[in-house]
Amino acid sequence: MDDNGDVSACEHLLANPESDYYWYFTGKGPESFLLCEACRKDVTHKGVKLNVRRIGLDELKLINQEGYLDGVSGEVTVQECPVSHLPPVRFIELPGTPVLTMTALPDRRWLLYSASHELAVFDPNTGVRKTLMSVSLPEETDEAWCNRHLTPRLHCDPSGRFAALVHDYGRHGVVVDLLEKRITMTLDGGDYHPKTVPFSLSFIIHNKRPVIIHRTAWNRLDASDPETGRLLTARGPTDDQSGEEQSSHDLDYFHGGLYLSPSGTRVLDDGWVWSPVGVLAHFEPENWLSGNVWETEDKVRTQNFPLQREDWDIGISWINDEQFVIQVLLSNKASAKNQVAFLCHISSDEITPIAGAGGRFFSDGVHLFSANAEGLSVWNIEQGSRASLIAGFSPTFTHPWRRELAQISNEGILCWHWPDTSH
Ligand SMILES: [Zn+2]
Repeated sequence: MDDNGDVSACEHLLANPESDYYWYFTGKGPESFLLCEACRKDVTHKGVKLNVRRIGLDELKLINQEGYLDGVSGEVTVQECPVSHLPPVRFIELPGTPVLTMTALPDRRWLLYSASHELAVFDPNTGVRKTLMSVSLPEETDEAWCNRHLTPRLHCDPSGRFAALVHDYGRHGVVVDLLEKRITMTLDGGDYHPKTVPFSLSFIIHNKRPVIIHRTAWNRLDASDPETGRLLTARGPTDDQSGEEQSSHDLDYFHGGLYLSPSGTRVLDDGWVWSPVGVLAHFEPENWLSGNVWETEDKVRTQNFPLQREDWDIGISWINDEQFVIQVLLSNKASAKNQVAFLCHISSDEITPIAGAGGRFFSDGVHLFSANAEGLSVWNIEQGSRASLIAGFSPTFTHPWRRELAQISNEGILCWHWPDTSH
């Protein structure tokens, strides 16, 4: 049997691996227990002796695959495994009006959107900032739901030709042809609780052409040609507004932030359902556009992701096309430092904790980067340990072509170049 370090499980769970279970961190390094509901209640009472034993990798896999992780609790300690020689954070001066948001362009420049409604490109190598055009979004009210504020956000298609400017936690957006400097589409995500999610949007390449995936209602995604606005996913109805009998494709789901896997084969949908509770789903855009036009409805309804995440719109990032990392809040919410993320394998349903990881997640395919008020943490995914903490640097943007993470600062950008460790 493979040794699995410090994970133990209770006898009830080992006898019934298909049960709901809880992941309890003891606060002693990486030590953790997988517990059934009854043992989870007992663990909080001092003096109660739990009947747990160390488990092997095969037993852990079985519980991951057959069972359902209903919550995480206890006390988390970060496993520190420091490395040396990480590059320093650099400051790059950015003249002109203050920048509100930015996104990476494949030609290694940044696309910027400023407080004066200016869309511009910025080349950090030359320091040149060039205005493209002026773009405004419709006025919207900031409802400040759960500390989420109406926020402008830029997305760029992988070819660099089209960009979208949207309001996260709002309903409106526009698509821009960066070459012809014109607006090609207006986006409307609907008026049913858009304040609860970032504007669902992702650009993909399909048949060698850019395609935009965007929310057109709380429970509906569509794909369009960003050059002409032509709808590529005509189907209906998806909402029972007519009072007629429910369609078999009705979807009771609020689509959330969309995350495209590194090679573009899968999209994670970080949405939610009433009570409210987060429900993570994934779909394959190629299948949607070339096969089943109901892909986004059918996949959300039939998937049963083996990990409960009460919240949504917190740390999430792909590592590769098979694995992603998501943050889960501890059910006892003992302290803000008590964070944990799970590395999830999409085909096998295996999940592995990374104790202490939380915030905005990014990845270079090898490491996990997490940014929060503490700073930027670099995690060794395989070991679940932290390789470095860069205090005071809390990036919001990633530039995969430059291998950089960036934070907008006063009159400039703070940039950190991640080392290439792939060879
Ligand atoms: Zn038990």
